[in-house]
Amino acid sequence: MPDVDLLVTGGTVVSPSGRRPANVLVRDGRVVGVGPDRPSATEVVDASGLLVLPGAVDTHVHLMDPGAPDREDFPSGTAAAAASGVTTILEHTHGRPVRTPEDLRAKADYLRQRSFVDFGLAAHAWPGESSSVPELWEAGVAFFKVFTCTTHGVPGHDAHALRTHLRASAQVDAVSLLHCEDESLTEGAEALLRAEGRLDGGVLPEWRSLDAELVAVAVASLLVRRTGARATVAHVSNAESAGYLAAERARGARLAAEGCPQYFLLREEEVLDHGALRKFTPPARGRTDDDEAELWRLLRNGTLTHMSSDHAPSTLEQKADGDIWSVHFGLPGLDSTMAVLLDAAARGHLAYEDVVRVYCEAPAKTYGLWPRKGVLAPGADADLLLVDPRARRTLRNDDVLSKAGWTPFDGREVTGRVLRTYLRGSLVAADGRPVGERRGTFLPGAGAR
Ligand SMILES: [Zn+2]
Repeated sequence: MPDVDLLVTGGTVVSPSGRRPANVLVRDGRVVGVGPDRPSATEVVDASGLLVLPGAVDTHVHLMDPGAPDREDFPSGTAAAAASGVTTILEHTHGRPVRTPEDLRAKADYLRQRSFVDFGLAAHAWPGESSSVPELWEAGVAFFKVFTCTTHGVPGHDAHALRTHLRASAQVDAVSLLHCEDESLTEGAEALLRAEGRLDGGVLPEWRSLDAELVAVAVASLLVRRTGARATVAHVSNAESAGYLAAERARGARLAAEGCPQYFLLREEEVLDHGALRKFTPPARGRTDDDEAELWRLLRNGTLTHMSSDHAPSTLEQKADGDIWSVHFGLPGLDSTMAVLLDAAARGHLAYEDVVRVYCEAPAKTYGLWPRKGVLAPGADADLLLVDPRARRTLRNDDVLSKAGWTPFDGREVTGRVLRTYLRGSLVAADGRPVGERRGTFLPGAGAR
């Protein structure tokens, strides 16, 4: 009988603190050793010349299943995740929000055998329903999604409702993901722009203005500190917002700051040419290479604490169905987020160690999944990636596995590729395609009893 089930030999194992040549030993779906040992194994995988990373943990994902499966579902969205190197997702769908423990149980049951990767499920906070925070947290939701503005059909929290939710969350140490845009500023701008009859893509940055983001970020981060709750500010679009978060963190706020590739790599002006294909909110605000360089700097130094895709796909047909006001917000991102992070490392914006920190370890820690997820160490789930850091390719709409069928990064040349993805010791994707059964399981949140 061999000593281990899987032995990955000859690779360079990357962690946030460094990289070293090491073998990875896997038994019963868990890592049992990382080092020079070379025991007998049922399967030996040669990783010579490759990087070995923990599977990525993408904590902001919308798969519309159930809800709007014509846009995405778990089989398609998690195929994209597995192929791109994401082995854990935290999911929530605005069209079918989880608001009760029964909603959570029904959704987790429905998703059995529908996921290629492990998944947690978030609840939506609802103004006036903060009394259900403890029971939802103890039922095992991953986090509470909170809107400060009414968006995607979900009602917004004003400062009072937000404070009430955060106080209830602090009581049980629940974590929230805060979408920060000020309701009165977005609503007021919308009324003016509509009165002018504006239908061009240029309405986006005026409607969803930097002022609206900054006001909401400032209020939310202050209330996070004052209530003592734990929270992440979602999709931080710019350096000034990140500065507010850093200031409140320095005063003691338990506040994470989420970046997404679209704010680094897409430019504000693209919405003029691409319209609905650049409709997401907050919108891209970068105007210059210096703006981009500043965001990479804030990610390297930890001001932006982690990355996610904010995967919110629509097909090209759905993005063409209506005017700039009525089409869905959102971009597909699960296919491309790891690719652009590996490419950022190849270009010198980040170290590979930073990629592991911001897309594996830090998100796992923020949502209570670490040290089971986000790390390659004895006891962790054997979620691991074999990465060729030198492989070059061009991102193409044709290669997208999400039902979206397109990517805003179509045509972008990237360096670095995930060749294989293992979930709990089993191969779940190879060469950009999912492999085998859908063996992803539900991960109860940190408050589960
Ligand atoms: Zn989102």
